[in-house]
Amino acid sequence: MFRRGESIQIKSPDQLAVMRQAGLVVALALQAVSAAVRPGVSTRELDAIARECIASNGATSSFLGYHGFPAVICTSVNDEVVHGIPGDRVLVAGDLISIDCGAIVDGWHGDAAVSVPVGAVADSVLALSAATQASLWAGLQQARAGNRLSDIGHAVELSLTAAGDYGIVEDYTGHGIGTSMHMHPPIPNYGKPGKGPVLKVGMALAIEPMATLGSAEVAVLSDGWTVVAMSGAPAAHWEHTVAITEAGPWVLTALDDVRLGPEASE
Ligand code: MG
Ligand code: MG
Repeated sequence: MFRRGESIQIKSPDQLAVMRQAGLVVALALQAVSAAVRPGVSTRELDAIARECIASNGATSSFLGYHGFPAVICTSVNDEVVHGIPGDRVLVAGDLISIDCGAIVDGWHGDAAVSVPVGAVADSVLALSAATQASLWAGLQQARAGNRLSDIGHAVELSLTAAGDYGIVEDYTGHGIGTSMHMHPPIPNYGKPGKGPVLKVGMALAIEPMATLGSAEVAVLSDGWTVVAMSGAPAAHWEHTVAITEAGPWVLTALDDVRLGPEASE
């Protein structure tokens, strides 16, 4: 999994500042789209909102045209885990929708995802989403110089397994990010700690746990994109892009300027 000889892109402070601009556009787009989520809205309408937000902030989409992807967000509803294509689907109360967005400023990418309940949603689904979000933050806390890459996935897995009996998706991972959206290294959401490359100041990583109320097994639909839970159970997906800085993890795709600072003693 950790291929030797393939390096992880290191960014200068100035380059990370541009990545923060891209990340902020992603945060604004996800905020605007989340605010529009309600029963009766179509996923195509949500995509239009994100398009407008990305354009009005002087950015371009990381997703549009990526291997032919036709939209600026991925919309994955209920048992859809990731990579759902916006279209005619109309949201109904009780749905959980994952919205994934990427934006580019001056050649630098940001990538983040949120899961948003539509109207009244089952407590079990809300708990799944909350646990997945919490596991993301557990992973972000490990994005520190001197840690090993697998410390991130280990923290995500520990957080999710402590929260409940969830299926932790293994077939899709987080990733390095910078001058491209998907860069080395892959970042699994599970594993033993202390493995893989040593994390260094200037790296930027997209951490994105995906979990289901059923098993971890997933499949790709005939549209070639949409990843669904084989069990048919609801899934949640949360993602942030984080930079490793001297001072600690800097969450580049948060709406506020979130710098996690020194690690809290555990
Ligand atoms: Mg993403
Ligand atoms: Mg990603």
